[in-house]
Amino acid sequence: MARYTEAKCRICRREGTKLFLKGDRCYTDKCAFDRRPYAPGDHGKMRKKPSNYALQLREKQKVRRMYGLLEGQFRRYFQEADRRKGVTGTNLLVLLESRIDNIVYRMGFAHSRAQARQLVRHGLFRLNGHKVNVPSVRLRPGDVIEVRERSKKNLVIAESLETVARRGVPAWLDVDPTAMRGTVKALPTREDLTFPMTEQLIVELYSK
Ligand code: SF4
Repeated sequence: MARYTEAKCRICRREGTKLFLKGDRCYTDKCAFDRRPYAPGDHGKMRKKPSNYALQLREKQKVRRMYGLLEGQFRRYFQEADRRKGVTGTNLLVLLESRIDNIVYRMGFAHSRAQARQLVRHGLFRLNGHKVNVPSVRLRPGDVIEVRERSKKNLVIAESLETVARRGVPAWLDVDPTAMRGTVKALPTREDLTFPMTEQLIVELYSK
């Protein structure tokens, strides 16, 4: 499966916001965006008024990169969101949030979505009692994720659970850190997603 492998901090600097792609480091003074809050490259500090198209493109890139998806995958999520009833932008965000790699990260079993994806791929979790190793699997309310017995001593997971208090577990999830188990209580509503995202710009971009 192809994925973006270049420097993650450059992505934050390009998108002009902290996307928290590197786990704990993002909360320290080593954060590259805190040190150099401008776009990378020779012209990174140049300022000009962005066009509407530029704003839409950057918002799409920001959200896509935050969830670690390639363009084709992201567009397919948009197409599905568009087919569903309700507000397309909200549908899109809910679809992205319901991926198992995102939920493993949100529950605190991994420092970042990229790490969560790797742990899922390596088969460290069970979903409703069955081994799962596909990061795009979509969870529904009532689904239970737990760390497999043989992986409960995994240092990455243990360290991540220790530091999860820093970012908190969303109200739509329920986590028992001792049992290394989490339940999806409900899918998130738009109000649950507090990271600044203007999904309407993405809808406008793809609707051209
Ligand atoms: Fe982004 Fe800062 Fe984390 Fe790097 S350390 S990924 S710049 S938030």
